[in-house]
Amino acid sequence: QGSATAQGGSSVWEFMKPSYAKKGTRPKACFVSLVRNEELYTILESIEQVEKRFNKQFQYPWVFLNDKEFTEEFKTKVSAAVSGGVEFELIPVEDWSYPEFVDQEKAARERNRMAVEGIIYGESESYRHMCRFQSGFFWRQKALEKYDWYWRVEPSIKLYCDITYDLFQWMQDNDKAYGFTITIHEYVRTIESLWDTVKSWWKKNPQFIAKDNLLKFISNDDGETYNLCHFWSNFEVANLNLWRSPAYQDFFSTLDETGNFFYERWGDAPVHSIAAALILPKDKIHYFSDVGYHHMPYDNCPLDRDVFKKNKCRCDPENDFTFHSYACGVEYYNAQGLVKPDGWENYHN
Ligand code: GDP
Ligand code: MN
Repeated sequence: QGSATAQGGSSVWEFMKPSYAKKGTRPKACFVSLVRNEELYTILESIEQVEKRFNKQFQYPWVFLNDKEFTEEFKTKVSAAVSGGVEFELIPVEDWSYPEFVDQEKAARERNRMAVEGIIYGESESYRHMCRFQSGFFWRQKALEKYDWYWRVEPSIKLYCDITYDLFQWMQDNDKAYGFTITIHEYVRTIESLWDTVKSWWKKNPQFIAKDNLLKFISNDDGETYNLCHFWSNFEVANLNLWRSPAYQDFFSTLDETGNFFYERWGDAPVHSIAAALILPKDKIHYFSDVGYHHMPYDNCPLDRDVFKKNKCRCDPENDFTFHSYACGVEYYNAQGLVKPDGWENYHN
């Protein structure tokens, strides 16, 4: 069918390249947390983890985003917990509301249907705004303009191991654009029409598809169907210029115009992942197997014994999700041509 074949090089990588020019110098990087006032104590737990295991050494600043004004209590307590600079930014309403082409009555009907069908977050209007924001708007926020790099942090996450090197610097110095810790399959009921939309975008825009892309991670049949694999976006260490690129902006607009962030419940994780897999050369994507990470209910726990010991990990490797059948570690290793660790089959339940 030919659609899986790239026509050009990677226009996205060309676009991003200037942000890699100063190898060896400290990257312009920050943490970014979209969070609600009610999540004060769970975000404090996450901050404590990140500071203890990583940031007390590096002191990167932190940006907090919210669709409502942060309370004074939130700002005071969070400011006291971070070691670097901190900014609290209110998201402009335009970035957290219905675009005019969305039929809000239809959206409400679809939410009811999905609630009845028991689809996770099916009933939630705010969750849809959140997913659309993380897909198309977080990287446009004013507070992020001065940065090239971000690390997304959510409430209640854990870092299980010391991180003894600067992840941002490592990404920059090794020409990486997108880093993740956990992969997983999406609930098909939330993205019924996503792949058809992606395919029609890609056929119209072959110039945006990278030559040596990671299509094999997201499709088992050369692009005919989506295998539901994605990077779990609650953890991301990535270059903001990926999302600022003309290719991604075009991709996002095409998706957004369908209204299906609202009529269906498209998640930012499959949206980011599909884009990254198609528009980036695959060697720009990196799995942090050495970063012990937890977001309910899954763990990335280093299987390498030396890494585990050296970095003082506090997790059970038996719980590592990477090679579980519901994860997509197998698809990822195969797509990248990586050698899977000894004994990975034992995790494949
Ligand atoms: P899950 O991980 O998919 O179960 O979703 P979460 O509830 O963790 O939401 C994902 C991220 O978006 C978290 O960082 C939340 O704090 C944040 N978030 C979700 N909904 C809202 C919202 O309505 N307002 C704000 N400000 N943040 C939200
Ligand atoms: Mn979460």
